[in-house]
Amino acid sequence: MSYCLADLDVEHVVLERGKLAQRWRTQSWDSLNLLTPNWMTRLPGFEYEGNDPDGFMSVLDLISMFDRYAADSRAPILSDTSVTGVERMGERFRVITDRGEWLADSVVVATGYCDLPAVPAASRGLPASITQVVPANYRRAAQLPPGGVLIVGASATGVQLADEIQQSGRQVTLAVGRHLRLPRRYRGRDILWWLDRLGVLNQPADEVHSIEISRHQPSLQLVGTPDHSSLDVGILQDRGVRLVGRVRDITGYGVTFADDLIANTAAADLKMAEVLTRVDRYIDRIGIPAEDSEPFRPTWPTAAGAPERLDLKSEGIGTVVWATGYRRAYPWLHLPVLDASGEIVHDGGFTPAFGLYVLGMNFQRRRNSSFIDGVGADARTIAEQIARSVAGVRVA
Ligand SMILES: Cc1cc2nc3c(=O)[nH]c(=O)nc-3n(C[C@H](O)[C@H](O)[C@H](O)COP(=O)(O)OP(=O)(O)OC[C@H]3O[C@@H](n4cnc5c(N)ncnc54)[C@H](O)[C@@H]3O)c2cc1C
Repeated sequence: MSYCLADLDVEHVVLERGKLAQRWRTQSWDSLNLLTPNWMTRLPGFEYEGNDPDGFMSVLDLISMFDRYAADSRAPILSDTSVTGVERMGERFRVITDRGEWLADSVVVATGYCDLPAVPAASRGLPASITQVVPANYRRAAQLPPGGVLIVGASATGVQLADEIQQSGRQVTLAVGRHLRLPRRYRGRDILWWLDRLGVLNQPADEVHSIEISRHQPSLQLVGTPDHSSLDVGILQDRGVRLVGRVRDITGYGVTFADDLIANTAAADLKMAEVLTRVDRYIDRIGIPAEDSEPFRPTWPTAAGAPERLDLKSEGIGTVVWATGYRRAYPWLHLPVLDASGEIVHDGGFTPAFGLYVLGMNFQRRRNSSFIDGVGADARTIAEQIARSVAGVRVA
């Protein structure tokens, strides 16, 4: 956003309560790599130019990249500055921080889509002796108390943590809800390369059947490792992870699971087959060089023997990891732009309050709006609107 505003000579300031890339610095687990290949780390005025375009950046490398990007673009970042209030003042906004106030003609809320963990209410039924962990607080398997681990949620985070914790020697049980799985590589290329080529990643919001449904799609079961291997529920089951259905209810140590494992894995496999068929057809149509379409054999998961109820105590499970996604909260935003669930109402980033914008939301304008690769296009659109309407920002 800052790069795009500077490009249009719009005076601005970036207020950050921590340091640049704070979430990556403080809320990532040790082994986390991006699941998007390096060539997809594209920002306004920046493209990856290293010698491993198909590799996956570690979080440390990503933070260095953001540091360099901010320095090169001379982004006016005020770190260690928490925004504690945003309210109307005449036609402008009064922005209150713990280090003084600002008056601004426009405000862009960029506090992140992955803001707070979305933990189901059922978690409150667990006894205190069970350790509950959310991914933002997880660093490594050794930090968990001894014993088995129940991981709830089988999207990108859930499958990555399930694999790591199972490989550390603990028995992992993975509660699998609705999910999407794709192989890491297909016909000689990374699956995201194909999705990029097909235009799936930057598909505009107004082209999808239902934006509400699309905004609530789970993230892909993918991991970024040096050997470009796939990771999904079938592979995890092969490695000894016990798959169960969605968590339905928790009473004390008793956890019941829905009988939906077959239905959810079958739906994911149907979707995978559809996407891979689209890739095959694209290859045939364009005549693009690709490896032959050898029969693709994913590791099929089986639901046989999946228990519908577990007693955590007798199973020796001492930890529950909630890999159940994210929510957002804006207690500092004193403007009538939040819906009943506290989400910012917006149309492609434009909120009902003139001059107030949001950036980085899931499927904000395109499918990749909440990804590093997609945020630039949305930032440009909003920056252009701000440039049209704004005279600048000044200290109150
Ligand atoms: C585990 C995980 C893995 C991911 N992997 C990938 C990947 O491989 N590729 C990819 O493209 N994307 C990935 N993402 C998505 C990633 O979140 C986005 O790509 C991107 O980093 C989000 O940037 P952002 O600036 O919108 O939000 P954030 O990085 O969340 O930044 C928001 C900032 O706002 C600050 N803030 C919040 N409230 C206030 C306040 N009141 N006052 C001042 N500052 C405030 C926070 O400190 C934070 O620094 C991943 C996300 C997660 C959680």
